[in-house]
Amino acid sequence: AKQAGRATYKIFEAQMDVELQARKALEYDLRQAVLKNELEVHYQPLIDLEARAVAAVEALVRWRHPTRGLVSPAEFIPLAEETGLIVAIGEWVLETACLQALEWPQLRVAVNLSPVQFRGRELVETVDGVLVRTGLDPARLELEITESVLINDATAALEILNGLKSLGVRIAMDDFGTGYSSLGYLNSFPFDKIKIDRSFIGDMSSKDKSGAIVKSVISLGQSLNMVTTAEGVETIEQATFLTNEGCDQLQGFYFSKPVTASELTAFIDRWEGSDIM
Ligand code: C2E
Ligand code: CA
Ligand code: CA
Ligand code: CA
Repeated sequence: AKQAGRATYKIFEAQMDVELQARKALEYDLRQAVLKNELEVHYQPLIDLEARAVAAVEALVRWRHPTRGLVSPAEFIPLAEETGLIVAIGEWVLETACLQALEWPQLRVAVNLSPVQFRGRELVETVDGVLVRTGLDPARLELEITESVLINDATAALEILNGLKSLGVRIAMDDFGTGYSSLGYLNSFPFDKIKIDRSFIGDMSSKDKSGAIVKSVISLGQSLNMVTTAEGVETIEQATFLTNEGCDQLQGFYFSKPVTASELTAFIDRWEGSDIM
């Protein structure tokens, strides 16, 4: 039995080796990707229901891998966060999105920030630097953060968020409803927007409770004077429900997937004068 145990352990060890090697290879590839300009930013429109127009775009990073094709951020952001590469990638996405936004003067641009970017003290300076270099009006930049940013060191997070606010940018709470004490966070941190997590939107037709939760988050946002955005809107039924409940903005495949900058420009052109809504 001891022998068998040892053998199993050997196999386990060998497997760990393979995994570690695969990880190392991916990490090497990702470092190269940054150097070789293989990262791309795609944009997904946010539809303002009152104006019935595209109000903003969310910048979402992708990796155009030479052999693996377009790699989703879900596959490399975690590694980028573990290795710290997310700091460089995050700044690159921010600068790229701000430059791109100059071509869409009527739109806001939303950029995701990783909790790792909140660890150092330099985030406020980084964002300020990008705004100065690109010349983008700070009021047109929205930074999306998740609750996990606030959990570790709430005092430090608040200081950074206040620093960002003082630059004139807007702050959105992303994936709202998926964490722990979201309500307290809404009270203590300077959020301009709540993005209702797409899990609630997706469940609305099958679970009555999800519809009820979405309704109450919308009215919560209204009473706190925050913009409410619903993510992951895929059907006309969802869009109608959210419109009737007074949600401010909708985002999801029903309108458009994240697309390249030129595709987004074409989407806006098509939208104007169309009767999609
Ligand atoms: P997220 O910030 O919650 O972004 C929204 C995700 O939902 C995007 O996935 C988008 O493609 C997807 N989505 C939008 N509408 C629909 C819909 O109607 N149905 C469904 N099923 N999905 C929809 P994506 O682009 O794969 O990004 C995944 C996550 O990766 C993002 O979630 C965000 O957490 C992270 N991410 C993406 N780009 C960046 C970045 O530049 N920096 C950081 N730190 N994270 C990023
Ligand atoms: Ca987001
Ligand atoms: Ca989200
Ligand atoms: Ca998410």
